[in-house]
Amino acid sequence: MNKKQLIEDDIKYIWRPFTQMKSLENDLNKPIIIKRGKGIYLEDIDGNKYIDAVSSWWVNTLGHSNKRLNKALERQSKKIEHVIFAGFTHEPVIEFSKKLVKLMNNKLTKVFYSDNGSTAVEVALKMAYQYQVLKGHPEKKKFIALKNSYHGDTIGAVSVGGIDMYHKLYKPLLFEIRQALSPYCYRCPMKCDKNTCKCECLNSVEDILKEEASQIAGIIIEPLVQAAGGMIMYPPKYITKLREICDKYNILLIDDEVAMGFYRTGKLFAYEHADIVPDIVCAAKGITAGYMPLSVTVTSQEIFNAFYDDDIDGYKTFYHGHSYTAYPLALSVALENLKILEEMKIEEYLKPKIAKFSKELEKFKNHKNVGDIRQTGMICAIELVKDKETKEPFAYEDGIGKKIYLEGLKMGAILRPMWNCIYFLTPYIITEKEIEKLTDIAYKALNKVLPMGD
Ligand SMILES: *Cc1c(COP(=O)(O)O)cnc(C)c1O
Repeated sequence: MNKKQLIEDDIKYIWRPFTQMKSLENDLNKPIIIKRGKGIYLEDIDGNKYIDAVSSWWVNTLGHSNKRLNKALERQSKKIEHVIFAGFTHEPVIEFSKKLVKLMNNKLTKVFYSDNGSTAVEVALKMAYQYQVLKGHPEKKKFIALKNSYHGDTIGAVSVGGIDMYHKLYKPLLFEIRQALSPYCYRCPMKCDKNTCKCECLNSVEDILKEEASQIAGIIIEPLVQAAGGMIMYPPKYITKLREICDKYNILLIDDEVAMGFYRTGKLFAYEHADIVPDIVCAAKGITAGYMPLSVTVTSQEIFNAFYDDDIDGYKTFYHGHSYTAYPLALSVALENLKILEEMKIEEYLKPKIAKFSKELEKFKNHKNVGDIRQTGMICAIELVKDKETKEPFAYEDGIGKKIYLEGLKMGAILRPMWNCIYFLTPYIITEKEIEKLTDIAYKALNKVLPMGD
């Protein structure tokens, strides 16, 4: 089929995610047909190549069409592609679970499987609530979540979401939560200075708990980076202090590592930077290096023990599962991924790349519309503003992000900014030369859309 026909059919038959479908009438918004991928590059049907600077929605870590992952998938497909995960099990899931718990230093000990980040969060919320019930606290049924947070698009995950554009409309369908301030350092809700801050925004968490701790099951956070909220970044000490608060008021700390997990921040999980252990960790993106849908909800032995009982039909069972729970094809790739990362000595491997990004970000510093430059491990973000002094944001209608995206495409990079944020979240295998190339493209695209002369 030719390209024109393919796109016509795509638009005719498919309802795209996060997309006002009518906007596809505009030629500039037509989807690009990707034919193949290799390493950090995607190639479209016309042979144009693009740096995948968004890791195909934050999931790809080892590049496209990785030889070893391809092989692992092929090997497993010849053994068993899927089997019911009740009463049966298989080697990839056993080996992966054991490896993961060991990598987490046996601090969290039980791995529950589902197949995307949103469901990993649903599992965590249900487990947390049921844990409180089992501990004799059925009244602990509310969660605290943060403004600007994103935990997925299923109803429970939307309930704890804090981005009005995505979440507000569904409010009548959602369960009640308590919302605390977003640790948005660049636009600090407490008007604190980043250098002297003592995480005063955490007072908003404690204020809720002083009033209502007896009704709160737990708090859910995105560690270090509120990603979909606009790559909002905050320091590890926030998480360290939050752990103390959770202990003081006896609530669970649910750590949504869906975007940060599997070394995105430079460590296996972002919570390690804060030297604490959460009660529940959710992870998904990156777990199979971007190959297969898979997610985990990992809990403490303490939570698991509360469910452990002789009464097999009683309310202590965790009633949750999916058709594709512990999908063998996905687990085989996840396992191979862990082996590759281990052999690469991934933490050491990432250090020079993180430093290179940091150096290349310097070139954005003097641009008149660059309000903030931030970085956490392998994520960099540049927040654009209309006015540097007042930090006045561009209006959504200005479509600055969109314009930069289109310029980026012409130069061979998929930048896909969020609101007024340009960000880099690339596969880990990007070379230092490619980091230069990518940041150069972004810099040129920025200057094209917002020329320094104006
Ligand atoms: C992407 C994301 C999710 C949702 O994961 P899906 O696999 O898209 O359902 C949840 N939490 C965070 C922090 C995310 O970035």
